[in-house]
Amino acid sequence: MSLSTKSQRAVPAVEKVLHALRQPDLPRPIVVAVVRRVLAELRSSGKVREFDEVVSRVDKVLEKLSRSRIQPVINGTGVVIHTNLGRSPLGPEVARALTSAATHYTNLEYDLNAGERGGRADYLEQALALLCGAEATAVVNNCAAALVLILRHLTAGKRKRVIVSRGELVQIGGGFRIPEILECSGAKLREVGTTNKTTLSDYASAVGPKTALILKVHRGNFFMGGFVESPTTEELAALARKHRLPLVHDLGTGAVSDTVDPRPDHEPTPAESLGRGVDLVCFSGDKLMGGPQAGIIAGSKKDVAALKKEPFYRALRCDKLILAGLQAVVEQHLARQSASTPGSSGSIPALDLIRIPVDDLRERARGIVKALRGVPAKTAVGSGQSRVGGGTLPRTSIESVTLDLAPEDCSLEKLASRLRKGSPPVIGYVSRECLRVDLRTVFPEQDSELTQALRRALEPTRPVAPLSDRARRSTGSPP
Ligand SMILES: *Cc1c(COP(=O)(O)O)cnc(C)c1O
Repeated sequence: MSLSTKSQRAVPAVEKVLHALRQPDLPRPIVVAVVRRVLAELRSSGKVREFDEVVSRVDKVLEKLSRSRIQPVINGTGVVIHTNLGRSPLGPEVARALTSAATHYTNLEYDLNAGERGGRADYLEQALALLCGAEATAVVNNCAAALVLILRHLTAGKRKRVIVSRGELVQIGGGFRIPEILECSGAKLREVGTTNKTTLSDYASAVGPKTALILKVHRGNFFMGGFVESPTTEELAALARKHRLPLVHDLGTGAVSDTVDPRPDHEPTPAESLGRGVDLVCFSGDKLMGGPQAGIIAGSKKDVAALKKEPFYRALRCDKLILAGLQAVVEQHLARQSASTPGSSGSIPALDLIRIPVDDLRERARGIVKALRGVPAKTAVGSGQSRVGGGTLPRTSIESVTLDLAPEDCSLEKLASRLRKGSPPVIGYVSRECLRVDLRTVFPEQDSELTQALRRALEPTRPVAPLSDRARRSTGSPP
C-alpha cells in the first residue's frame, strides 16, 4: 500500500512530460495518448523512475511510432517490385493524373456527352480491353478480389467444385493462399495431379456434374524444374470447352507487354492467355503493369458483364484515384506499344528500372563512393543481382551495381538498423560481409539524399556538411 502511494506520487504529470519532450512531429492527441499510456505503465509497474528517464522513454516510443507512419523510403534491396515497400512506384505522369483527380471534381460517373449519369470507368475498361486483347474488362481492388469475385460468381449455383492442379495451390506473399481464397469464395477445391506432375487426363477424370470451372494459377513467385509436367493452356481450354466449363487463369503478375530481356522466364500476357482459349484472366495492377493497386479482369463481354452485375462487385470497386492512375498507366502502355521511342510516353518506373544499363549504375556508384570519402568504413562499388520481385519472373536476375559498406566501428546489423531508422530510411541488405545498397532500385534523384543518409549512419556523431561543401573539400578546390 505504502509502496503504491509512493510510486503514484513519483509518476509525473502529463503536462510536465509534454513540455519536456523533443518536438515530436505527430498530432498532439497522439502524443498525449502515448504520454498517458507510458505513465500508466509506470504506475502499474510500481517502479519509480527519474523524470528524465520517463521523458526519454516517451520520446523513444514516439520516435518508433513516427517511423511507422507511411513515408517514402530508399529501396536499396534491388527488388524492383517489392511488396513490403509498396510494389510499383508510379511515374510523374501518373502522379499528375492522381493529383488532378484528387483535387478536383471529376466526371467519374457522369456522361459529359449526354449530360446525365454515366458508367464508371467506361473509357478505362475499353482501353484495358484493347491492351489485353479482350472484349471487355472490369477493375476491382486487387487481384485477390478479382479472383474471389470470379469464383463466387461461377460457383453461385449448385456446382461448387473448382479443379486446380496440386502444383498450382500456391501461396503468394502474406496471406494469399489459393485453397483459402477458394474456400472463402464458397467454392469447393478439387485438387488434381501431384506437386510436380499434372496431366490432361488428371483434369479430365476430375470433371463431374458438380464441376463449376477449371482454374489455372500462374506460378509467378517460384520455379519448378526437373521432372515437371502440366498440360498447355490450349489443351486445358479444349477440355474446358468440351465440357462447357469456364477456364479461368489467375495470372497475378500482369505483364501486359513482353517484359524482361534477357530472361529465362516468360510471363504470359493477358492477350496470350485469352488467345489460347482462356475465358477469364485476372492480374494485379501494381506488379508488372507498374500501376496503382488494382485487380483487372479481362474476358468476354458476356462474362465480364455478368461479374459486374454481382452485388459483391460493388464492394470491391476502386475509387476515382485508382481509376485515374490506372487510366494514365494504361495509356502509357498503349502509347509504348505503338511508339518507336519507348521513352516518349513517359516513365513506368517498374519497367524502366529493370532496363537501366549497368554502366549508368556504376557511374553513379563511383560518384557516391567518392562523396563518402573519409567515413569510418570500407566503401566500394560492388556488383549485384537485382530481381523483379512481386511474385514475378523467379529465375530472372538482372546484373546490377551495389554500394558495399563495411563499417569500422559498428556491426553490419547496427549499420542496417541505423539506415532503416534514418531520414529518409534506407533499406539495404547484408551479404558478403558488407551492407549493400543496390542502385538499380534507387532513383537517380535520390543519390544525394542517399549519400547523406549513408554518411549520417556511418558517422552518427558527426554533423553532416551539405553535399556541395563536401564535394569541394574532397576534390581539394578552395571554398
Ligand atoms: C500477386 C498474385 C496475386 C495477388 O494479387 P494482389 O493484387 O496482391 O491481390 C494473385 N495471384 C497470383 C498468381 C499472384 O501472383
